Amino acid sequence: MSAHDRPSLRILHLYPQHMNMYGDWGNVLALVKRGQWHGYDMQVIGLNPGDEIPTEVDLVVGGGGQDSGQVLVSHDLQRLADQLHTWAEQDTPMLVICGLYQLFGHFFQPVGGERLPGIGIFNAQTVGGSKRMIGNTVVNSTFGELVGFENHSGVTTLGQGQQPLGQVVKGAGNNGKDGTEGAVYRQVYGSYLHGSLLPKNPVLADALLHAAASGKYGALQQWNTLDDAVADQARNVAKSRPR
Ligand code: GLN
Repeated sequence: MSAHDRPSLRILHLYPQHMNMYGDWGNVLALVKRGQWHGYDMQVIGLNPGDEIPTEVDLVVGGGGQDSGQVLVSHDLQRLADQLHTWAEQDTPMLVICGLYQLFGHFFQPVGGERLPGIGIFNAQTVGGSKRMIGNTVVNSTFGELVGFENHSGVTTLGQGQQPLGQVVKGAGNNGKDGTEGAVYRQVYGSYLHGSLLPKNPVLADALLHAAASGKYGALQQWNTLDDAVADQARNVAKSRPR
């Protein structure tokens, strides 16, 4: 098949300049690489504050950042809210980590700062705390065991009916109290796990890609089995590290 008629997927990367902590950019790289290995041409559009909102998007990814970065993007994110809600209802897959996960909830209230508005895709709210939750983290989810690295002081509380991404086996997760980690709404996944998350968790990477590809092309005829031996090694090392 020539490059011309190969299927293609377009990733929207939210705020790469301001929301890219602990290798969150690696999530985009993992999606691009695995997408190519599955036979797709992969295109990435980075959206920074003020940039035009693209209309044709198959997958949305965003990372974490410092509180100062969140102040900047939280207001710009309001501009995108309607489009992101529309995509969420159309089952466009999305993955948002830490700082953007918080802003996909109703709000983030930093310690001693102005409350930052979220876009309410998740029924969740986050309040800055005095304790930093940091370290290697293992979570039981519908994708199996997810392995990552958390570093946040924000305490997230899920509202009534809001599904978590999983239950913490090791680590603090949303708030260090109720055992939940992250949130899921339709095909939108929020998580505190950096790491980067997707290179170490190929099952989740492929779930996002499969949802994007079948959303665009209908039932897929073919889906390659990839060799994940290196990713498995990385998972095992991360899991065995002290927190
Ligand atoms: N400001 C947030 C917190 O510390 C987000 C941190 C992050 O994205 N890593 O809770």
